[in-house]
Amino acid sequence: MGKQQATGRDQGRVLLVSDAPTNAYQAALEQAGCAVVGVAGGMAALVRLRSTRPHVVVIDQNLSGISADELARLLTQAQDGVPFILIGAHEATATRREQALRSGAYDYIEMPRDLSLLVARTEQLVKHKQSVDRLRAEADRDYLTGLANRRRFRTALGNELERWRRYGVPCALLLVDIDHLKQINDAHGHSAGDVTIRHIAAALVALSRDNDTAARLGGEEFALLLANADEASAQAAAERLRQAVAETAVEQVGTVTISIGVAVCPVHATTERALYAASDAALYRAKSAGRNCVVIAPPAIAS
Ligand code: GH3
Ligand code: MG
Ligand code: MG
Repeated sequence: MGKQQATGRDQGRVLLVSDAPTNAYQAALEQAGCAVVGVAGGMAALVRLRSTRPHVVVIDQNLSGISADELARLLTQAQDGVPFILIGAHEATATRREQALRSGAYDYIEMPRDLSLLVARTEQLVKHKQSVDRLRAEADRDYLTGLANRRRFRTALGNELERWRRYGVPCALLLVDIDHLKQINDAHGHSAGDVTIRHIAAALVALSRDNDTAARLGGEEFALLLANADEASAQAAAERLRQAVAETAVEQVGTVTISIGVAVCPVHATTERALYAASDAALYRAKSAGRNCVVIAPPAIAS
C-alpha cells in the first residue's frame, strides 16, 4: 500500500465523469487517499451525484450523451455547490482554462500530461468542500442541544408547507416551552437549567421520526415539526411527549414539565406564518391553563 488511506468521515469522495470504462486517473486519486465513489458517463453521472455525495467531481470533457458544458451548468446550479474540475486531452492554454473557470469549473487540466496537477487540485478542493460542509452543518445546529436551530427549522417548515401545497401532505407544528425554567435556574443553578434543556431536547429526539424536525428555537422554547401528521396523530404525539417528560426525573433537578401548543396544516392554517401563530397561541393558552398540558389550536375560520 502506498500513502496511508484516510478513513471514514475524513476521506475525500471523488466522482469521475467519463465514458471510459476503466479510468487511469482513478488509481492516482486513490493513491492520494481519495475514495473514487463512481465512474459514470453522461446522464448517469447526475444520478451518481445524488447517491454518492462526492466532495469533488472530475469531468472528462469528451463525453457522449450530455455535453461537459451542460453538466457544468447543472453542477453550478446544484444547491450544495460541489466543486468540479474539467479534464481533457487538449492543451491547457490560458484561454481554455479561462473558459473552464467561467463555466464554473475550478480548473481545466490537460490529461494525462498533468495528472499530478489533477491530484493536487483534487486534494485541495476536497479539503475546501469538507470545511464548507462542516461550517454549514454547524450553522444549522443549536450548540447546546445539537437539535436544529431556528434557521434550519424555518427551512424545514417552508419545505413541509410546500409539500402540502404541492402534494396535499399534511403536517403539524408542536411548540414546546419548559414550565418555570427560571425557578429551576434559581433553585438549582444555571447549569442544572442547561441539563434540563438538554433533557427536553432528548425527549423530542426520542419521539421524532426520520422526516420530523426537532428544533430549539431559543432559550427554553422548542419546536417539533411532524411530517405527514394529521390532527389526531399530532395530538397523540404531543400528549406522549408531555407524559414522557413529566414521568422522567431530570438529574440534579427532579420533575420537570412542559407545555405544548399544537397546530396542524391544513386544519388550522396553511401558511408558515399562520401555522406558527396558531401553535404559539395554543401554547400561550396551555400556559394560562396551568401548564403541563397540550392545547390544540382552534379550527381556522374560513375566509
Ligand atoms: P413559564 O412556565 O411561563 O414558561 O416560565 P419560565 O420561567 O420557563 O419562562 P420565562 O420566559 O419567565 O423565563 C425563561 C427562563 O429560561 C429564564 C431564562 O433564564 C431561562 N433560560 C433561557 N435560556 C436558557 C439557557 O440556555 N440555559 C438556562 N439554564 N436557562 C435559560
Ligand atoms: Mg419561554
Ligand atoms: Mg418557559
